[in-house]
Amino acid sequence: MLTELHIGIDDTDSEKGGCTTYTAAVLFQELLGRGFKPSDFPWLVRLNPNIPWKTRGNGALAIHFFIDEEQIEDVHRIAMETVDKTTVASAHGTDPAIAFLKGQVPRALHEYSTRALHDVLSVREARAVARRAGAEVHALMGVRGLIGSLAAIGAGLDFVEHTFEIIAYRISENLGNPRRIDHDSVKLMNSKYGNRTFNNLDSESGRVLVSPHGLDPVLLGIRGYSPNDVLDAFKELQLNEEIERVMIFRTNQGTDAHLGKTRKAVDLKPHQSGALTGRVDDVPRVLRGGHVIFRLRDDSGLIDCAVYRPTGSLAMAARDLLPGDTVRVYGGVRRLREGTPTLNVEKLEVLHMVEKIQQANPMCSSCGGRCESMGRGQGLRCKKCGQRNEYASKIQVRQERHIQSTIYVPPPRARRHLTMPDSKPRNISNEYLRVENFQLRVEDFN
Ligand SMILES: [Zn+2]
Repeated sequence: MLTELHIGIDDTDSEKGGCTTYTAAVLFQELLGRGFKPSDFPWLVRLNPNIPWKTRGNGALAIHFFIDEEQIEDVHRIAMETVDKTTVASAHGTDPAIAFLKGQVPRALHEYSTRALHDVLSVREARAVARRAGAEVHALMGVRGLIGSLAAIGAGLDFVEHTFEIIAYRISENLGNPRRIDHDSVKLMNSKYGNRTFNNLDSESGRVLVSPHGLDPVLLGIRGYSPNDVLDAFKELQLNEEIERVMIFRTNQGTDAHLGKTRKAVDLKPHQSGALTGRVDDVPRVLRGGHVIFRLRDDSGLIDCAVYRPTGSLAMAARDLLPGDTVRVYGGVRRLREGTPTLNVEKLEVLHMVEKIQQANPMCSSCGGRCESMGRGQGLRCKKCGQRNEYASKIQVRQERHIQSTIYVPPPRARRHLTMPDSKPRNISNEYLRVENFQLRVEDFN
């Protein structure tokens, strides 16, 4: 009898190389090659990006296959061997972990996965959740990866909002060398597929963003709204090096999934993510280096908000906030400034703006020229005709605000994996799965 087997994988990478998506791709294709039938694309699940001890993007993976009961032990063994073989460990703690779950994913595991997007979870709780959900978990070195391996299985990407990414992997001989992709072909692809894919280029600087820069095996990745979109876009690229394999992932990237929880200023703890609404409490300060700091007050208290300079247009918008403006800020608490939590703002929604009033000298009543002050309490004198009016005083002039009631997001180069792109098409078709997309043959691309 066939059952659905879910395999969660986390943390097989380090700053010395490797990539958990690579482990999942190798395992997926290994099982496919042995004749097992997948029930979905592999899932690339980004978890809370505000956890500082995670490698790069805090991504965990899940794959899903229909397996005959008596072959489950074999598949467990293959999975463990693949994780072991593809892990690139380092002294800084690589904690590869793997979780297995048979049958339907219980609601409790989905809730756990949602919390892993917003909070810092403990390994002790992961073990308890695994026991209750009937999942089998294995930690190959440290235990921290257990959290991600379980959360990946519970992500529910088949029913929550999701996108897709196609990733091409390098052959091992090329690891560490500069990636050889024709950048003009990326720009051409973007002009053709820019509304069905996202984060190919940085809109402000024109920089190509499809490739990472480290020792990991990823040559490039293209993100988009359907399997066919990312595959079609990928075929447009000119690659000047051989690739080892290609895989399409279903993912929560580009969905803002980590920003969905509403928080209160007093409750925010380090490394949590979420959103809160309040009023700007002081005039934003621009620090040396261009970072912008302001205070936000909600009905529970105050919190410092920081908007970092690399966020470009977002930081520029934050500079123009005024005390009394109502905003919704989205982000995570990364560190404590002077003992109080600071929210690292990833997205800013301006809900209501106060009027900006400035004091100005009035115009002359007889000639229309600009008046000037004659000194404190001395009234005004026209600069043009010289007429004096000792009882006149400054008037209040309403200034134009530079920001608007809209949502500000950083440019693509400063976005997190989970950040929702602004290019989102209005109608995302719930595209059918083409079986051939599971079986991308590397020969077709080299
Ligand atoms: Zn005058």
